[in-house]
Amino acid sequence: MEKLAVNGGTPARTTPFAAWPVVGEIELQLLKEVLESGKWGGAGGAAKPNYEPKLPQMERKFAELQNAQYAVSVVNGTVAITVALQAAGVKPGDEVIVPPYTFIATASAALAYGIIPVFADIEEDTLLIDPEKIEPLITPKTKAIIAVHIAGTPANMTRLKEIAAKHGLALIEDAAQAVGASWEGQGVGSIGDLGTFSLQSSKNLNAGEGGIITTNNRDYWENAWSVCNVGRIPNGGWYQHERFGQNYRMTEFQAAVVLAQMTRLEEQMRKREGNAKLLDELLTGVEGIRLLKQDARITRHAYHLYMFKLDPAMAEKDDFIKKVNAEGVPLAAGYIPLNRNKSIIETTAMWTGEERIYDCPVCERLCEKEAVWLTQNILLSDEQAIREVAHALQKVARSY
Ligand SMILES: *Cc1c(COP(=O)(O)O)cnc(C)c1O
Repeated sequence: MEKLAVNGGTPARTTPFAAWPVVGEIELQLLKEVLESGKWGGAGGAAKPNYEPKLPQMERKFAELQNAQYAVSVVNGTVAITVALQAAGVKPGDEVIVPPYTFIATASAALAYGIIPVFADIEEDTLLIDPEKIEPLITPKTKAIIAVHIAGTPANMTRLKEIAAKHGLALIEDAAQAVGASWEGQGVGSIGDLGTFSLQSSKNLNAGEGGIITTNNRDYWENAWSVCNVGRIPNGGWYQHERFGQNYRMTEFQAAVVLAQMTRLEEQMRKREGNAKLLDELLTGVEGIRLLKQDARITRHAYHLYMFKLDPAMAEKDDFIKKVNAEGVPLAAGYIPLNRNKSIIETTAMWTGEERIYDCPVCERLCEKEAVWLTQNILLSDEQAIREVAHALQKVARSY
């Protein structure tokens, strides 16, 4: 048996993985155009003649990419969720059903507007919201479901749409990790009523910060645009505020970076897809490692993360991770169950006046003992890197 790096053996990987973000001349060129145009923000600013503002261009391209009719740019992916809920007419005191295996923003964005997150457990073999856990949680206060395409894996939109339609609920897609992903050929973010995306530094399409809301519904688009523009309406007066809104606008600089980054998106997606497939092959049959199930209706996976599970009978999760990390591979422990997060429980209590505890046994067990992931930049590395990642995982798995 090979000596593990934790015991003084040679690490499986000694060179860095692909750098993130990737930048080039096009970013410089587009940023320079914004700088020299005089139009720096999403509203106001005197553009020089012949300058075509970047934000509307970016919104158009982004909507096209996800097969949506409309897109609204916004300061970040967290605010995008709050705005999508507001645009769909969800009110303070209403309930929204969310999965517990996600970034905290999925729930905190609801709480920011006094909307109460209710946790539906996840599926054992996909880590996505389990549609069959939703109906028992529906009350007269339930107004929406947020499907999270975690890791860039589309959730079961067919079943979620059925449930949402049956109960008259808005269906919002938190697609922060899923730019480019599709379900049965339809871009995520354009399948439910509204979709939300993040352009934060770690995400597959990166402007440092930023977010996008997508929809095919003209009223929802207008509502979302209005909430992001201090309650103004498209083509209305500057001091005409028709509803409650804030200034959630992105800058032209960010739109320039997104447009530039978009020129590499397809190539980067293919690279991640190819490397994920290779990693699937290399890890298939490794004792103690369990690949997740991929629904055949997923036509494109965004691979923001490469998630898999450990057999709890093989090793303690922390011990496995520590040993893989020593091999030069930054395997991560992943999320902590959101239904148990203190700030979520406390903020829910602040709005409702009562402490609410939701049990999500599948999520809690998988977080504690099984679920792990690798980040997207690892999948942007070369074939040698992927082989070394697989070697590290095999080496540690065999050591038990
Ligand atoms: C990143 C992320 C968000 C929040 O996006 P920000 O741009 O960081 O505010 C929301 N939901 C999920 C699932 C995310 O991964």
